[in-house]
Amino acid sequence: MYIQDLSLTNYRNYEQIQVQFDHKINVIIGENAQGKTNLMESIYVLALTKSHRTPRDKELIKWDSTYAKIKGSIVKRNHSLPLEIVFSKKGKKAKLNHIEQSKLSNYISAFNVVMFAPEDLNLVKGSPQERRRFIDMEIGQIQPVYVYHLNQFQKVLKQRNALLKDYQRQQNMDRTMLRVLTEQLIEHAAIIVERRFEFLKLLREWAEPIHTGISHELEKLEMTYDVSVDVSEGMDLSKIVKTYQTHFQDIETREIERGTSLIGPHRDDLLFYVNGKEVQRFGSQGQQRTTALSLKLAEIELIHNEVGEYPVLLLDDVLSELDNQRQSHLLNTIQGKVQTFVSTTSVDGIAHKTLQNAEIFQVQQGT
Ligand code: ATP
Ligand code: MG
Repeated sequence: MYIQDLSLTNYRNYEQIQVQFDHKINVIIGENAQGKTNLMESIYVLALTKSHRTPRDKELIKWDSTYAKIKGSIVKRNHSLPLEIVFSKKGKKAKLNHIEQSKLSNYISAFNVVMFAPEDLNLVKGSPQERRRFIDMEIGQIQPVYVYHLNQFQKVLKQRNALLKDYQRQQNMDRTMLRVLTEQLIEHAAIIVERRFEFLKLLREWAEPIHTGISHELEKLEMTYDVSVDVSEGMDLSKIVKTYQTHFQDIETREIERGTSLIGPHRDDLLFYVNGKEVQRFGSQGQQRTTALSLKLAEIELIHNEVGEYPVLLLDDVLSELDNQRQSHLLNTIQGKVQTFVSTTSVDGIAHKTLQNAEIFQVQQGT
């Protein structure tokens, strides 16, 4: 799939622009602080309804404005599909094919993008929360219903934690209400964990050989899902539910003492190993960057596999961070098959032959 055109109104430092894109490679050139990242971000937001940079939607609205609008049409299976998203004080409204969507999960699966930005290094060296966010965003793009379970899980988790705090303060309260919430929590937790295992199995199948390729056979990547209960890959849903039930019974008193939920997908993590050593802790900067890159390239293949079309790739400020060999590997992999946006501050950044046929966009102060 690819994005054909984009129009922005009061989005970050753009008052009003309208652009047509090349369906292969687009290079965004501009000095610092002109709007390169903002432009890439807007494409990401058009697809996912939220930014990769901030959880606060109102930051996307131009400082002196009351709303921001992103419009674009994508081409998917040879059909053009208009998308629109508006942010205002009242929240966000997303339209797919001119029809407002009451469920964002439905909207999100329409247009797939993969972003690779400097912050993605945090995927490897950052907190478990960032890795969970990555997994959740990716599964959500492929399986809209996952987003529903995730939202329900978070809602129940909040209620359950509040209740555990009450119990902690007042000893010997009747535990019926807690048990009801525990059952509800497990219902969603089990599905989330089952889907995460499935996703990681696929991701691993793509990422491991890609990593071997980028590192010229020198490095072997492995990844595991670090889960807070005794469940494992391939376990069926009813068994996962049972495991959670038993475990929650065992720790009920401890949870009340602590006043919070101690197990669940909100406590899990994703671990990466290069040549048997944990990359988070022992990997060099280069190994961490290669790991992040392998994951992103794997994601592209995974989406293609699940959706039947390649997603749009956004490479913000990353080419200059990679050495020549990795740069070539990246560009050769995507060549021709993935619509790609590359941002750079200078023409030196477009030395690679793949970029020489690109459409060039010059960005200056939001125009
Ligand atoms: P760099 O090369 O440094 O990464 P960039 O071209 O990617 O620069 P952007 O991150 O796109 O720059 O930001 C461009 C400008 O937009 C910045 O000066 C920033 O302060 C401004 N900006 C950010 N948010 C808003 C907003 N809500 N309203 C108006 N301007 C904003
Ligand atoms: Mg930038």
